[in-house]
Amino acid sequence: MKYYLGFDIGGSFIKYAVGNPGELPIMQDKIPTPTDSIEGFIHTFHQLIGRLLKEYGSKDLQGIGIATPGTIDRKSGLLKGVNPNLPWWVDIDPRIVVPPEYRKIALCDNDANLMALAEASGKKGMVLGITVGTGIGSGYVIDGAIYHGSKGFALELGHTKVVAEGAICNCGLKGCVEAYSSVTAIQKLAAGLDAKYQELELSGIIKAQAKDAALKKGIRQAEKYLALALANAAMILDPDSIVLGGGAMDGGLYDLARIRRHFRANTQKSYHHIQILPARYGNLAGVMGAIGLASLAMNNE
Ligand SMILES: [Zn+2]
Repeated sequence: MKYYLGFDIGGSFIKYAVGNPGELPIMQDKIPTPTDSIEGFIHTFHQLIGRLLKEYGSKDLQGIGIATPGTIDRKSGLLKGVNPNLPWWVDIDPRIVVPPEYRKIALCDNDANLMALAEASGKKGMVLGITVGTGIGSGYVIDGAIYHGSKGFALELGHTKVVAEGAICNCGLKGCVEAYSSVTAIQKLAAGLDAKYQELELSGIIKAQAKDAALKKGIRQAEKYLALALANAAMILDPDSIVLGGGAMDGGLYDLARIRRHFRANTQKSYHHIQILPARYGNLAGVMGAIGLASLAMNNE
């Protein structure tokens, strides 16, 4: 059976899947991401790929796709952007994780771009995909192809501004929507309101807001900022649909119906046709997008 390998590199886990585009994977699993050094990271990857090739047959492998945090400079092919969990994962061609003999059938892209690619499969036209988790990532797919901009840096929706001179963001700038509406921002907000919230995971914070009016108000404000960022993006891109996923959406931090209402309140009627939809593939979107990317390249040859 012919198959593709898809990988999704995260700060905590490397997710992987064996499968074909447009279908749920034949198998999927994850291993902890080695965070000590680039050498250990590459070694683990080579071992994992070797094991998968042994099990599924190297002859039937059609391509390898890799979803990575950070942005890939389209001119140099090198990874840009800082990942706090993987400080050495920068200024490097991400395909280095693939054994040399398979590199020519390997492709990589930003994880949010590949989430958008997976979520756009089976949908017509233009799809804006957004993940709201530790950070806010986004990707734009036009008729099945990822839009990269002139150099690869398009769709940094998380770092578009919703407040002039606002809160300081991880990127060093101020007022980005990520600094207000990401899970990290909500954890910071909760800890600032009450020290007892400091150790809480997202689910604990969501529970706590039911009995804490100030916390609830802060979360609702963050939800408005997120909707505002969607409205701004819609007015620039005019997509057919916007797909929202990531830990904040899956966990129930924000409500899709309220986001739709705020979106409409901040856009003209001509944008009200845009569907705002929940993501279908959750955690699997990265590996499925990676498989989709690898298959697109093979079919274009
Ligand atoms: Zn920012």
